[in-house]
Amino acid sequence: MPEFQTFPIPKARHYIDGRFQDAVSGETFDVIDPTTEEVIGQAARGGESDAHSAVAAAKRAFARGEWSRAKPSFRKEVLYRVADLIEERSDEIAYLQGIEMGEPVLDSEGKVAFYVARSAQNFRFFADEQMQAGDHAFNHEDRLMTYTMTDPVGVYALITPWNGPFMLSTWKMAPCLAYGNSAVHKSSELSPLSIQVLCEIFEQAGLPDGVYNSLMGYGAEVGPPLVSHSEVAGISFTGSPATARDISARVSTSLKRTSFELGGKSATIIFDDADLDRAVTEASLAIYLTTGQSCVAGSRILVHESIYDEFLTRFEAEAKNWIVGNPLDPKTTLGPVVSKGQYDRVMNYIDIARSEGRVLFGGGRPDNLEKGYFIEPTAIVDAPNSARICQEEVFGPVAVILPFKDDAHALEIANDTPYGLAGYIWTESLERAHNCALRLETGMIWINSGFVRDLRQPFGGVKDSGQGREGGQFSREFYTETRFASFPIAPRRDD
Ligand code: NAD
Repeated sequence: MPEFQTFPIPKARHYIDGRFQDAVSGETFDVIDPTTEEVIGQAARGGESDAHSAVAAAKRAFARGEWSRAKPSFRKEVLYRVADLIEERSDEIAYLQGIEMGEPVLDSEGKVAFYVARSAQNFRFFADEQMQAGDHAFNHEDRLMTYTMTDPVGVYALITPWNGPFMLSTWKMAPCLAYGNSAVHKSSELSPLSIQVLCEIFEQAGLPDGVYNSLMGYGAEVGPPLVSHSEVAGISFTGSPATARDISARVSTSLKRTSFELGGKSATIIFDDADLDRAVTEASLAIYLTTGQSCVAGSRILVHESIYDEFLTRFEAEAKNWIVGNPLDPKTTLGPVVSKGQYDRVMNYIDIARSEGRVLFGGGRPDNLEKGYFIEPTAIVDAPNSARICQEEVFGPVAVILPFKDDAHALEIANDTPYGLAGYIWTESLERAHNCALRLETGMIWINSGFVRDLRQPFGGVKDSGQGREGGQFSREFYTETRFASFPIAPRRDD
């Protein structure tokens, strides 16, 4: 197998106050490669003392002001260096992400997976955003001038999941740091490796000590003392609704800012006037890319009944194009799911689906892969939308396909879920697309296009898919305080 370049595997340690550190308890846990099922490293098992020491370091850094009160141009310079260093080390980041969570190292164009480049863009975008976003001035009756002042808030807890562990983390870090805050980042216990490179990059780029701190450990152990800490002013969380509820309950008596980016059961709706070639390809990408481990996965595909049979045939043929295998093989387009726990969970959902409907294709481990948490691209049909496979987030390469009669029926099915993250609409009628977008109960909708993240978009969901929006000016509101001062001005007229 033509393998990608390998790199040394770092020990996954905390990074607190500019120093890599073991857990106070000295305890560690195993890091497992989902392709080989072998232990490839150790990660620090953080707990309460580690969380407290990271928050204290972040608070000290904020109070010192080297970053929180620095000139925006200084922050821009440092964050641009971070972006440059991410690009310089992109092969290493892609490699570590490949072995910690199974993401293929190359994208379909043969380039190092786009999400590494995206991570660098996140830093450049917010480095510029904090320079460009001006303050406001309001003239009141030619008598009083009010002007606004924008300040960082303080210490934020940034909590991220294992899917896209590097890039998703930078979605939060870039705005949090760009606006002058300090951060304590808790990445997932299932993907603790690639983030070690980012800690080194922050150090090399000249980010003052304590501004960014990283905690390793199990969510249930190190998460609660982090989110509950009185010096944490805000929490930006990406993960499951169950964890979001837990965090919400723990901080309910405080006045911390919270932003929750949660799961989804998003619908791809394909009308009878759609460009079917594109719709088939994009519907396949929407569910199978990243092995279905994406919050915006189009995991329910709703197809007009007049093109339903043709769609099934073409969608099955399209699914055969996915190359399932070792993420370090440049040819691979579909890696394993992240862990044994996730493998069992997805397989269990497929078993449940067998009694609720019918497996159209896939449904098991590929014949040529004896080891690793690999699951074939799978599609389920003939299940009612009330079935568990249609209502619950599987977070694996499993699509469920349902026919609909007309536009109203499509919307009824699409909205009949506790989630409301994304939606994909395929039709040649702009009027129909807009009517559908108006009524689709989701935070984000792509019409005749696949998932594209413009960093100015208000990213987030409704219902159980989250609270709050991040991106561009929406991140600015979440990560800053706006204050005002007023002063009298000379009147232009005597009246
Ligand atoms: P998870 O909720 O189990 O864990 C997410 C993070 O929270 C991890 O770092 C974990 O260690 C930590 N955590 C766990 N318990 C905690 C606690 N009690 N207190 C504080 N932190 C705790 O989710 P996951 O399985 O890692 O990720 C998959 C989920 O994330 C899916 O539901 C997926 O849809 C969602 N997701 C959403 C988005 C989005 O932007 N909307 C993006 C990616 C993933």
